[in-house]
Amino acid sequence: MAALSKILRSVEGNRLMFWCPGCDAAHAVRVGSGSGWTYNGNPDKPTFTPSILFNPGGETPGVPLCHSFVTDGRIQFLGDSTHPLAGQTVDLPDFDAG
Ligand SMILES: [Zn+2]
Repeated sequence: MAALSKILRSVEGNRLMFWCPGCDAAHAVRVGSGSGWTYNGNPDKPTFTPSILFNPGGETPGVPLCHSFVTDGRIQFLGDSTHPLAGQTVDLPDFDAG
């Protein structure tokens, strides 16, 4: 695992990891060739498309459903998220702040 910036880390398997302030947990997205998300290449103000959905359907008990867009270093939580930041847009936090 390597720090690309204060808010973004790279992990094995062409994945990038950020700290989600809604879940208070790290999320990873797969980027690059083949299936996965597109990444704007800016570790200080990352943008991933399309939207990111964790725990779809709330299938893992005790873990929030988390649906977001990460754009220019900010994370917009969609209204179907089940944590307290649903519907809000906030800056991605420093990884170590989590
Ligand atoms: Zn989350």
